[in-house]
Amino acid sequence: MKAGAVQPARGAELRCQGWRQEGILRMLENTVANGERPDELVIYGGIGKAARDWPSYHAIVAALRDLADDETLVVQSGRPVAVFRSFPDSPRVVLANANLVPRAATTQRFGELSAAGLTMHGQYTAGSWAYIGGQGIVQGSFETFGACAGSFGGTLSGRVVLTAGLGGMGSAQGPAIAMNQGVALVCEVDETKIANRLADGRVDEIAKDVPDAWRRCRKAADGRQPLVVAVAANAADVAEELVSRGMLPDVATDQTSAHDLLTGYVPAGYSLVEATRLREAHPDEYRRAAGTTVARHVRALLAMRNGGTTVFEYGNDLRGAGKLAGVAEAFDIPGFVASYVRPSFAVGRGPYRWVCLSGEESDRVAIDTTARTLFPEDDRLQQWLGHAERWTATEGLPARICWLGHGARALMAREINRKVREGELAAPVAITRDHLDSGSCSYPGRETENMPDGSDEIADWPYLNAMLNVAGGADLVAIHQNAGIIGGSCSAGMTLVCDGSELADERIDRCFASDPGIGVVRHATAGVPEAVAYLPHSGIHAIHNQA
Ligand code: NAD
Repeated sequence: MKAGAVQPARGAELRCQGWRQEGILRMLENTVANGERPDELVIYGGIGKAARDWPSYHAIVAALRDLADDETLVVQSGRPVAVFRSFPDSPRVVLANANLVPRAATTQRFGELSAAGLTMHGQYTAGSWAYIGGQGIVQGSFETFGACAGSFGGTLSGRVVLTAGLGGMGSAQGPAIAMNQGVALVCEVDETKIANRLADGRVDEIAKDVPDAWRRCRKAADGRQPLVVAVAANAADVAEELVSRGMLPDVATDQTSAHDLLTGYVPAGYSLVEATRLREAHPDEYRRAAGTTVARHVRALLAMRNGGTTVFEYGNDLRGAGKLAGVAEAFDIPGFVASYVRPSFAVGRGPYRWVCLSGEESDRVAIDTTARTLFPEDDRLQQWLGHAERWTATEGLPARICWLGHGARALMAREINRKVREGELAAPVAITRDHLDSGSCSYPGRETENMPDGSDEIADWPYLNAMLNVAGGADLVAIHQNAGIIGGSCSAGMTLVCDGSELADERIDRCFASDPGIGVVRHATAGVPEAVAYLPHSGIHAIHNQA
């Protein structure tokens, strides 16, 4: 098969011995089909892959086709290694990606082991075959800016949000700010990206310079009109100019790829062409120049913060880069999970998604309607489903991401499984999620930053989460390291196929109680107030034995 020709199978015909195996196979195919560089099996995040190499991919496909209903396929960093007898209720696939012993978990050592063909970077959903294209990014940004709006009375109407970066992730910020009725001022050094975003509707207007951008933004904000204005300029220059002119946005953040100064952050004073030349000829000099610019950028954001702007880091390690470049107080800027997402995670609410294995849009529409009907009181979900039609395109198999909480996840899955059983949908449905979720990730730079009890670096929780999903009978369970900086995080993924069976009902009840449930427990144990308040009403049998 030609590499780029992978497409997910559709329809009701099985190639495997059961729908659980077929569902996982279609999830793998869908992940590859939606990838950034499918020919290299690279899905997203630069090096996040779905399989180690093409022979491994084909061997996984063959193993899934042959896999019996009481067998489990084992995949080690993108390469299938064995099939073992298990139970009909056991996972059909267990996989582990990029796990290194802690002392070896450095970028350099990972690169060496990877080059030696011994491991693979799985990011979050790439290596656990749960990637559904760009929808998750738009929805996650909608949630983050929605939670941020909470400190402005529940809406960003009349507010200006400064940010930077119109890349794969960053370009979702403008629409997400506008969905929350705000005005976005987005800096981007690459004029081609701005033009592309204007064409695809993620940017509404292009300003000629900073004063022009500010005038457009203020006018829209004063008129309570959502708007996305882009300016072709370096983020550090823009932030400094705004500070010096006393033009302070209400909110400021950034999504340049500051986590990688050499390839992701352009130093001030260089055109894109000049920056590329410098990077290739003198990488150390490039890093130094980018570091100097990051330091200016972070200092300007801190000055905004002192002036009353709400500033947060949006998961790109801008603070870490700033600190390395000499800004001692860079971490005065809070991270977005600690500031906005944690209250959701604390009650088990996070990025739940379903994928229609039939390939039929009508199945997705029917399930969207079910979500609307089941949760009429969930305003955020209702708003999102309204926006989702406009802002998300179908990429591969029809899918929808919705943040649902503990309790709601099982209810929703049960209803989907009933629909499959009663023939209301054309084929089974896979339910899965991001690893950036309630109880499935330890990442002190982001998901578990600044936990109230200081447990940021405790890595037990994702492993417990994965083991619970195995115990509960999820169809695929994954443990990963290194979704962010190598050595910086570990996480777990899961997928459950709703094949309409009563056994699936039982697996749903177990897994969707424990998967978000261990997240509630993790946050309650740490003393996060929302989790402490929710736990007694959650139905979770928690054990309170702390001195
Ligand atoms: P990307 O590399 O596709 O895009 C970065 C953009 O920033 C590019 O368009 C680039 O031209 C622009 N840029 C670089 N330096 C600039 C500067 N000094 N001024 C203005 N523009 C500049 O990256 P992406 O996929 O959009 O991701 C952005 C960041 O978000 C990454 O660091 C990524 O790791 C992080 N991220 C966060 C989350 C999260 O949950 N918050 C999730 C995934 C990724």
